[in-house]
Amino acid sequence: MIAPIRDPGVIEGYLRDASNLPGHAELLFRPSSATEVSDIFRWCQREGMPITVTARRTSTTGAPVPMGGALLSTERLATIHSPTEVDGGVLLGEYQAHVESLGRFFPPDPTSRHECSVGGAIACNASGSRTFKYGPMRPWVESVEVVLADGTVLHADRSTPLPWPVPQWTEPAVKTAAGLYPATNLLDLVIGSEGLLGVVTRATLRLIPLPESVLTMLVFLPTRESLLQFLPRARALGPRCIESFDRNALELIRGRVPDVPSADCAVMLEIEHEGEPPIEPWFDLLSDVGALLDDTIVVTDEAGRAKLHAVRHALPASVNEILIHNGVQKVGTDFAVPHDRLGELLALYDAVPMRSVCFGHIGDSHLHLNLLPRNVDELAQARALYFELARAAVAMGGTVSGEHGIGRLKKSHLALMVPPAVIAGWRELKARIDPAGVLGRGVMFD
Ligand SMILES: Cc1cc2nc3c(=O)[nH]c(=O)nc-3n(C[C@H](O)[C@H](O)[C@H](O)COP(=O)(O)OP(=O)(O)OC[C@H]3O[C@@H](n4cnc5c(N)ncnc54)[C@H](O)[C@@H]3O)c2cc1C
Repeated sequence: MIAPIRDPGVIEGYLRDASNLPGHAELLFRPSSATEVSDIFRWCQREGMPITVTARRTSTTGAPVPMGGALLSTERLATIHSPTEVDGGVLLGEYQAHVESLGRFFPPDPTSRHECSVGGAIACNASGSRTFKYGPMRPWVESVEVVLADGTVLHADRSTPLPWPVPQWTEPAVKTAAGLYPATNLLDLVIGSEGLLGVVTRATLRLIPLPESVLTMLVFLPTRESLLQFLPRARALGPRCIESFDRNALELIRGRVPDVPSADCAVMLEIEHEGEPPIEPWFDLLSDVGALLDDTIVVTDEAGRAKLHAVRHALPASVNEILIHNGVQKVGTDFAVPHDRLGELLALYDAVPMRSVCFGHIGDSHLHLNLLPRNVDELAQARALYFELARAAVAMGGTVSGEHGIGRLKKSHLALMVPPAVIAGWRELKARIDPAGVLGRGVMFD
């Protein structure tokens, strides 16, 4: 087995994720092959040593944060073997740039794609703006090499049977990344399992031809009503994404990118369309709902689109900076609800008595309301508010996590949505794969 690093100064760099939850660990392993991962897991099983898989720590849920024991970093599993075959530790954005230089396209685009790993995105079944058209990671992963918690190295695709019973349950009929998937094959079980069952050391991914052209619009809508009228017709026009930013979000963005128009609007939408969009129906729609036509921006070139992406990315980074400055952890919703309940969810968000910023994937009725507590007292208040909002989203037929997963911070919310018998079934499944109960202890369920 490779020797672990014990230097606390080195380990210190691996102990927090983007949620700012602090952890601790005594050992750090940085394996560079599935065989090395397998040896480490077998040793952990024998010694009863807790171990946590960590990749790039962009998780917002504490999932890669260790609570003692060992850490396994995937950073040295970092080779792009071919356009479709890639190691788990490769940066997703680096992989996408590589395949795009070959005229091919891997659609899932978490906002963090230039900072997160392919394996982390698979483990969280990550999504992005383009999920509106293309879905999350799941349909784009064709197979994985996975090292299970007991050290077994397996190739898993959708024809790989499950050697253990997996609880079947009905996920909400919305975009969701909460809980173990009711899988009927090993690959689908591993996708979205948040590092609880094993490590994805290699993945084979599905590609399509790179779209020849993409048109991006920034649209400013004056009121909530205009937004709710706009969305159903906009979805039907076939864009690849519809992203939204509320007034507070726009203010934060302007702090970093001053040339964003200062239109007096309730919401700004960023809409992307591949190929030739149907211009007349879009124009009619914008006129009908009273969009601020003079402020609408249309971008057709790659440089312009990169600038708009920078605008979008400025926002989570600004939110994280505020939270770090205030010394508190992130309290950001990740709920998705059925389209016909979106207005209700937005009304609940409006009524929250705390400074907040709301943005996200409104095409999928999936928004992030980021509460910005100023101190630890307000943090407790924010968590209580969050819990009530989660309850409401579930009552609407929604999910407690559309994309970020459950991790350590959202277990009580998952229990609002998933029956206790299913969670008990997950515990049994986990005990079969991880007899000593060492991997990702305390993530997703206790
Ligand atoms: C600014 C910002 C924007 C974000 N935007 C989005 C977004 O648009 N969409 C979205 O879905 N998420 C988003 N996220 C959340 C995060 O980026 C994703 O969840 C991402 O998939 C995590 O990847 P990572 O490499 O950072 O993994 P980590 O954060 O290190 O780990 C996440 C989880 O995956 C497990 N894991 C990591 N690698 C592996 C592996 N190889 N095998 C098995 N398990 C593994 C870990 O144990 C942990 O449970 C965002 C985060 C930030 C900070």
